[in-house]
Amino acid sequence: MSTPVGRFAPSPSGPLHAGSLVAALGSWLDARARGGRWLVRIEDVDTQRRVPGADRRILQQLEACGLRSDEPVWWQSRRGEAYARALDMLLRAGTTYPCSCSRRDLQRSGAPLGPGGERIYPGTCRTGPRGPARAWRLRVPSGDAACVRWHCARLGEQRECVDRTVGDFVLRRADGDWAYQLAVVVDDAAQQVSDVVRGEDLAGSTARQILLQRALGLPTPRYLHLPLLRDAQGRKLSKSGHAEGVVPGVPALRDAAAVLGLHVRGATVGEVLESALRGWPRLRARWESARPDGGGVEDARAADARAAGTGSA
Ligand SMILES: [Zn+2]
Repeated sequence: MSTPVGRFAPSPSGPLHAGSLVAALGSWLDARARGGRWLVRIEDVDTQRRVPGADRRILQQLEACGLRSDEPVWWQSRRGEAYARALDMLLRAGTTYPCSCSRRDLQRSGAPLGPGGERIYPGTCRTGPRGPARAWRLRVPSGDAACVRWHCARLGEQRECVDRTVGDFVLRRADGDWAYQLAVVVDDAAQQVSDVVRGEDLAGSTARQILLQRALGLPTPRYLHLPLLRDAQGRKLSKSGHAEGVVPGVPALRDAAAVLGLHVRGATVGEVLESALRGWPRLRARWESARPDGGGVEDARAADARAAGTGSA
């Protein structure tokens, strides 16, 4: 088996917060415990949410927690050509099409909401846009081909029929920004990422990403969706209200490890990371053997959409 490659891919919409440190640590541990490489990629395709300087701040915070990328950091804002090539390939294959629908058009269509809280695209522009094209969408296959079975090392076997949960989804947005799903799929393949380890809130993106991998002829990595940092009411803690971000160091790492289910020892960052590395294989094995069957993704998505009051991400 080739050396595992993991990655942490934060959005620079603010500094690293306690919840994203959990994902950073989990992905680092998973790669390092098997002698693999760990990469950092700044996911700054969403120009509306980009906060100047947040990327540098995140990298400093990671560094101070002993988490260093094994290769030069990538910025998605510099990857536009690669995304354009992928879109062009889909265009030639007939699997993407321009869409003229505005948010209001979609609301007026009366299309139902999917489990993630987003309106399921009703396919209005499948046979051609009704006006000036605004966005590009993936033509999701129909029937069984829309249903993706995938495995998460913690959540177990999953199945999602993307035509019924999301419909044809956006690859390039009306404002010209590349959609998160396309950028992630293209970059994970370009960086030869073998293991996608990220928060459980992103499990609902996995089926879409696998459909895109198939459409682009790219390999599907292994998936592990980590526990989320939750507040006393069980809601995912969001970035808002934590403007300062996490204070890097031993207490922050210890807290992040505890969210994963690891009780670590050590007085220095290095000792804490060593302790966490020793505990990781057993924790992962416990997840693998105790995983629930199916349903996890849609339940988690619905719960998070309710908690956030939106269907974004
Ligand atoms: Zn449309």
